[in-house]
Amino acid sequence: MPYQYDIDSSQKIYLDNSDSLTLITLASGGPGQQQQAVTQLPTGPWTEPPQVARVGGGVWVRCVTAQGTLVWQIQHGQISTADAAAWPTDQAVPMPTAQSAAPAMAPMAPMAPMQPMQPMQPMQMGDMQMSANPMTMRMGNMTLGMGHTEASGPTSGPASSTASDSKKFCTQCGAAVGPSDRYCGSCGHQLQ
Ligand SMILES: [Zn+2]
Repeated sequence: MPYQYDIDSSQKIYLDNSDSLTLITLASGGPGQQQQAVTQLPTGPWTEPPQVARVGGGVWVRCVTAQGTLVWQIQHGQISTADAAAWPTDQAVPMPTAQSAAPAMAPMAPMAPMQPMQPMQPMQMGDMQMSANPMTMRMGNMTLGMGHTEASGPTSGPASSTASDSKKFCTQCGAAVGPSDRYCGSCGHQLQ
């Protein structure tokens, strides 16, 4: 997590610890004419949050790591190491966390444009299968569909055509006869 301390309106200190490195950035100047001094040290991870103290006309920063205590003095736009034994404990305050990353750090990559939605691919889960266009879902031998009906089972044509095709009536007496009957079962009339 980066830390930030504003020395004044035109000078800021950024402090960050990434794994084994401590990165100190001193940014000065306004927008467009900003200058940065960066110090990077292989300190190892911090064991305490960093502290900051104002000493005279400068600012001191302290990091505590497993390898020892490190103190830097920032004065006149320069970062220099200072004697850890001279750390002004009674003037030190915790260094505030930064609202944004130090400007010396790698800028955020521009957001990649959204990829258009890919058409839905058939999806198979166990005995369930889903596919789009037409939207169908199969589970075992059951099929649910939308927008498209698969023909299965009895024909779904008009009932009247089914009746006229499969049923006949005697032209003599009007009794129902079978489609393959040659004689009326009621009156014996020859049908064909
Ligand atoms: Zn008949």
